[in-house]
Amino acid sequence: MTDVFMNTYHRLPVTFTQGQGVWLTDTQGKRYLDFTAGLGVNCLGHGHPKVVKAIAEQAGRLNHVCNYYQSDISIAFAERLVAACAPAGIQKVFLANSGAEANEGACKIARKYSLKKYGPGRHTIVTLKGSFHGRTITTLSATGQDKFHKDFGPFTEGFRFIPPGDLEALDQGLDQATVAGLLIEAIQGESGIIPQSAAYIEAAAKICADRDILLMFDEIQCGVGRTGTFLACEAYQVKPDLVTLAKGLSAGVPVGAVLAGKKTAEVFEIGDHGSTFGGNPLAAAAGIVVLETVNNPIFLKDIARKGERIQAALRAWNHPSIKDIRGKGLMLGLDIGAPAGTILEAALAQGLLILSAGTNTLRFLPPYVITDSEIDQGLDLLKKVLSGSP
Ligand SMILES: *Cc1c(COP(=O)(O)O)cnc(C)c1O
Repeated sequence: MTDVFMNTYHRLPVTFTQGQGVWLTDTQGKRYLDFTAGLGVNCLGHGHPKVVKAIAEQAGRLNHVCNYYQSDISIAFAERLVAACAPAGIQKVFLANSGAEANEGACKIARKYSLKKYGPGRHTIVTLKGSFHGRTITTLSATGQDKFHKDFGPFTEGFRFIPPGDLEALDQGLDQATVAGLLIEAIQGESGIIPQSAAYIEAAAKICADRDILLMFDEIQCGVGRTGTFLACEAYQVKPDLVTLAKGLSAGVPVGAVLAGKKTAEVFEIGDHGSTFGGNPLAAAAGIVVLETVNNPIFLKDIARKGERIQAALRAWNHPSIKDIRGKGLMLGLDIGAPAGTILEAALAQGLLILSAGTNTLRFLPPYVITDSEIDQGLDLLKKVLSGSP
């Protein structure tokens, strides 16, 4: 441990030195089973041989070119990514470095789209209460949770929150005269693995289409195969205008992507937006491995199957502390009806890394490469933790 870092994270008392598959090793040589995948980032686990090889080879060849030029690897990555998202109607991509940066880019596109078509005053982005969209001033403005809104104002104007699941609030909130876009997570991650119903998402899509309000999905946590389809929104009868990705997209190398459908693909013009590191060759090389591996029907089906296996095991266990099981694929929440954050340290002592979300929910985001027997091992450790046995 060290005290040179700013005091921004509630860190658990462990320092890792290496990882392999779903296992991490700390400075004492103790091994931990990873149900967090670095908050959804290490989607192919740690030290995946193809990811390691791709990054190492790319580092030896070319690790950065400025965006006044192109690199062969970024072109290959971008083309593959757009192709992977084509079933959702995606046509173009802007590459960035993080989730917040991707959401900022999407908000800029929504604002410009509306301004050019309807003139000033129609710039509001509606988001849901309980949402999480990032930590920059603007993405905090988009985040529908009061606890993030202290100390840092004034915030960016033009964001409004509506309660999720409420069709009347949706209809009223999506005011045609003032709203440019609706930004939603199909499954809210940070606030407790809260899925929106298909009926709600499809109703939102219809209102957006009728009123020419852009439908924007924040898939930074739930995208890239996490829920068993490449994009989570593919599971619904919707065609998004914008989708943002980050976290798992380059298996551990920083990356972000703004994906645009038909209406929004041409909104940005030369000089409108940029990012020094966006489309970085190392991120592109790792991202190609993710796309090759994950965007495969058999692999995606197996993510769904593993998620169902975890859910079935938790249901069969039927422990009194389990109040609810939510989510899809390998993005699952176990509501234990009591503060979940306090359990993480006990889990760590047992050798299990797991996350909390919201207040009462344990969050599972294991690497996709987890095996059935590793799932069982993790669940056995969790049972010990929840039963309070040493
Ligand atoms: C993590 C996350 C973000 C922010 O991503 P950063 O890379 O930390 O900026 C935004 N939206 C959702 C849904 C997330 O899970």
